[in-house]
Amino acid sequence: MAAHRARVPKHFEHVVAPSPFASSIPDNFLPYIQLKFGAFYTYDQQPDFTNGQTLLAKELIEHPTTSVKASADRGVAQDCLLLAGRLAVGCGVRQDVKGAYRYLLPLVMDLPTRPSHVPRPVEARAHSVLANLELEDATRDPDEWNIDALFRAASFANNAAALGFVSPVVLDIARRTTEIGARSRATWRYSDSYPWKPEFAKLEYLWGAMDARLAEIEREDRKQGHKISKNPTSYMCATPGCGITVTKKAALLRCSGGCGGEQKAHYCSKECQEEDWKRHKATCKPGKATTTTTTSDDPQTSSPQQASTQGPFWGEDADGKERSVMITVPDMPDGTFKVSSKTIGAAALKDLRAAIEKPPYMPQE
Ligand SMILES: [Zn+2]
Ligand SMILES: [Zn+2]
Repeated sequence: MAAHRARVPKHFEHVVAPSPFASSIPDNFLPYIQLKFGAFYTYDQQPDFTNGQTLLAKELIEHPTTSVKASADRGVAQDCLLLAGRLAVGCGVRQDVKGAYRYLLPLVMDLPTRPSHVPRPVEARAHSVLANLELEDATRDPDEWNIDALFRAASFANNAAALGFVSPVVLDIARRTTEIGARSRATWRYSDSYPWKPEFAKLEYLWGAMDARLAEIEREDRKQGHKISKNPTSYMCATPGCGITVTKKAALLRCSGGCGGEQKAHYCSKECQEEDWKRHKATCKPGKATTTTTTSDDPQTSSPQQASTQGPFWGEDADGKERSVMITVPDMPDGTFKVSSKTIGAAALKDLRAAIEKPPYMPQE
C-alpha cells in the first residue's frame, strides 16, 4: 500500500504539544496517556480526554520520576506502580520494559521484594498494566500472535477482573482472545500443531466481565435507539450532507422559527443553519414564541444551554456534549466507523472526517 500521511487539522495540533505545559512535558507523553487511560482507569470511569491530558501533565510535573523512583525503592506500592507505567513507555525516564516488570511483579506476587502494604486498587492496576505489556508482546507480529503471551495477558486481565477492576485493556484482551477463537475449543481456528489451551476457558472473571459489558452495551443501544426513533430529527443536523449526530438533544441548536413538532429543524452549528436557510425557510413558518424580532431573511436559533466546561476544547463550538460523525475509509474491512466525542466540536469533527476520507496523498516519486 502506498505510504501517505494525513494532514493534522489545526484543531488537533495541541494534542501533539499540549500548550500550557509544552516546555516541561517529557517524551512519549502520548503513549503514556494511552497506557494510563487503557490500564489505570476502569472502562466506565475514563477521564475526559482533554482533562485527562492536563491531569497527567500535572502528575508528571508534580511527581518527577526521580522522586517517584526513590519512593518506589523504599517500597511504597503506589509509586512502584507509577514508576512502572513510566518505565513501560519511556515517559520521564528511559524506556525499560524489564524494569517495569521488576516493579510490577512484587505488587501481584509473593516475592521477597513485595512492599509490606499493597492496597487492593494498586494490586488490581498492576495486573491491568501487566496484561497490557503481555498483550503488546503477544501481538508484536500481527500475522502470527504469540499465544503463550496472549494467555499470560488474559490471565493478568482475569486477575484484575477478579479484583473488580475492568479496564479498557481487560475488555480488549477478552475481545481479541474471543476473536481468534481462544475462548473455547469449538471456535479455535489454529492448526493441530498449535493446540488450543483449555486454560483459556477457565478464566471465568475475564469472560464474566466481557459478557456483562456486552449485555450493558446492548441495553444502552436499545434505550438510545428507542429514544432517537421517537424523534429522529432532534438528534441530527438538518443540513443535507452535514452528517453530525448527537446523543443528547441539547447538543444541537434549535431553529427558533415556527417549524413545528417532529419537523423542528436542529443544527450542529450556526454555519450549518445559515447554509440550510435557503432550503429551510420554505417550511419554517414565522415564529410565534420567539422574543427576537426576526428580519425576513435572517435565520435564528436558540442556543443550547452552556455546559459547565473545564479545560480547553477542540473547536470553538465544543461544549462537552457528545457529537458523532460517520467516517468512510475505503481500505477498512467494514468501510465506515463512527467517531464520537464530547470535547471535539462539530466543525473539528468534520475537519477530521475530511482529513481521513480525502487524505492529501504524498506525491509518488
Ligand atoms: Zn451541521
Ligand atoms: Zn425552522
